[in-house]
Amino acid sequence: MPCELCGKATDKLTTVRIEGTMLKVCSDCAKFGDNVKAGGKDAPNRVVIQSRLENRERRMKTKDVYTQEEQQVEELADDYGERIRKGREAKGWKQEDLAHQMNERLSLIQKVERHDIKPDDILAKKIEKTLGIVLIEKVPLVKTEKQAVANRGLTLEDFIKSSKK
Ligand SMILES: [Zn+2]
Repeated sequence: MPCELCGKATDKLTTVRIEGTMLKVCSDCAKFGDNVKAGGKDAPNRVVIQSRLENRERRMKTKDVYTQEEQQVEELADDYGERIRKGREAKGWKQEDLAHQMNERLSLIQKVERHDIKPDDILAKKIEKTLGIVLIEKVPLVKTEKQAVANRGLTLEDFIKSSKK
């Protein structure tokens, strides 16, 4: 049985509530559960949880891609940092130059290239325009996936959206 959070195959799954969503997870991920707070010496790491939830979303999407009716959505490319760096270097710009061209702070450019910060749509489009690169790609979204999620009463999508702000 695969862990619903990290995808690792395991014999023993524990049901825990993570960010409001009931998930069957492996022993590694069980510590992220809201209801496993006894002791509480390592507080759940939100960044880790979120990246695992996002990976889970992606796995759920790719699984259905070939069998379901497709719909396109715009999604930030996984390797956006790399794309920005390459696009910037293609112009012979330092990070300072890009920051200057975009009228943004150098630290922001550095963080985005390092994947410390995920650019929002507005920033991503601004970078695309400045460097002449593509960061936001059209990817297939499975219509029935949304319905399935709604039927199970999951709020994962809401959680991910709200935590991106
Ligand atoms: Zn796991």
